[in-house]
Amino acid sequence: MQVRITVSFPYEAPVSQSLFERASVVTPGGVNSPVRAFRAVGGTPRFMVSGTGPYLTDADGREYVDLVCSWGPMILGHSHPEVIAAVQEAVARGTSFGTPGAGEVELAEEIVARIEPVEQVRLVSSGTEATMSAIRLARGFTGRPKVVKFAGCYHGHVDALLAAAGSGVATFGLPDTPGVTGAQAGDTIVLPYNDIEAVRAAFAAHPGEIACVITEASPGNMGVVPPLPGFNQGLKDVCSDNGALYISDEVMTGFRVSRAGWYGIDGVRPDLMTFGKVMGGGFPAAAFGGRADVMAHLAPAGPVYQAGTLSGNPIATAAGVAQLRLLDDAAYETVDAVSAELRSLVTDALAKEGVAHRLQVAGNMFSVFFTDRDVTNYDAAKEQESFRFTAFFHSMLAQGVYLPPSAFESWFVSTAHDTQAVERIAAALPAAARAAAEATE
Ligand code: PLP
Repeated sequence: MQVRITVSFPYEAPVSQSLFERASVVTPGGVNSPVRAFRAVGGTPRFMVSGTGPYLTDADGREYVDLVCSWGPMILGHSHPEVIAAVQEAVARGTSFGTPGAGEVELAEEIVARIEPVEQVRLVSSGTEATMSAIRLARGFTGRPKVVKFAGCYHGHVDALLAAAGSGVATFGLPDTPGVTGAQAGDTIVLPYNDIEAVRAAFAAHPGEIACVITEASPGNMGVVPPLPGFNQGLKDVCSDNGALYISDEVMTGFRVSRAGWYGIDGVRPDLMTFGKVMGGGFPAAAFGGRADVMAHLAPAGPVYQAGTLSGNPIATAAGVAQLRLLDDAAYETVDAVSAELRSLVTDALAKEGVAHRLQVAGNMFSVFFTDRDVTNYDAAKEQESFRFTAFFHSMLAQGVYLPPSAFESWFVSTAHDTQAVERIAAALPAAARAAAEATE
């Protein structure tokens, strides 16, 4: 997508620029995960060299208040001393053994203790692996082929889950990216988010064929679009009535929006759940888990195969355990309070400049849609004036605030976002709001 940038940049990033040029020679697009490339907003991606508390420092020595938090994991801020100490202690004992280890047991126990519907859990290395494995398990358990997902929900780059509907009615998924075959996507049914009637219709059209419904517990990957009241319960009920599994993807919300993630907020009991991000403390650790009778189908206990050389890696589990143990009720109160304060600062600044917007919230996650209508699904999300976000983003960046480089992502805060960090954001907002107001397509 080509975006015309309507603000001037009073800043340069020559070291980042030169790293980006080198990276672009040896890596497609210069990045190892597409959204990092700034393609949606234009400009030079910042190459970060260090992080402390709420701040990141780039290769040019500029400091930013970080509102991305590594896309969610860094809920205690960067380089939390207790997490770093746990990692250093683990590293000193060796980096990978390829055997079971105590850290895996501790992390699994921590997850099971926090999230009541999770009776058993299997550790993996990324959220993508978690959702891919959960779907395989659901298919193996039910003996059914089809999977329901929702347009605008992202579950990692699993072939079958990269299908997204172009229209708002129940439809068979078409591959959304070259490399995913029709066969891989053909058993995926993509439906509009927050539309329980579409789900009922899909079950009616495919009796006995649907293995599971997978949904983000509260979506953050089309911007923040929380479930309408009763939607998740409706999904659970339709699944139960039809012998399908309800899979709640909590890779983003898990251990972030409460001790027990989104489940801790809406209390709807999934059959399977997926986790990542926060539970790894900044390392590659993720998980899927749920009903013990379903998990019992997983190898070596059962026939559904799933494995990983680095699954339950001792450094990653040490970081995850340390981070989760620090996340007590007081920590969530702090993150919730920071989030609430920032939300009111952002909305006040935009309102002052007369910028139409919706600030949408899910626990302590939030994002701004540049529109005058509530956003309840992906089609509505895409209708926003994202060119205003581009101007807003670059103004904030120029003033030392690092936002997600896309209008379709959640913003994340941490316990480390103290008064000083919030004041820096507050100081940057008036000019950014003005830039958004003045932006043209
Ligand atoms: N599920 C959700 C809800 C996510 O937000 C993400 C990543 O952003 C994933 C799955 C995939 O996780 P990963 O990037 O660790 O593969």
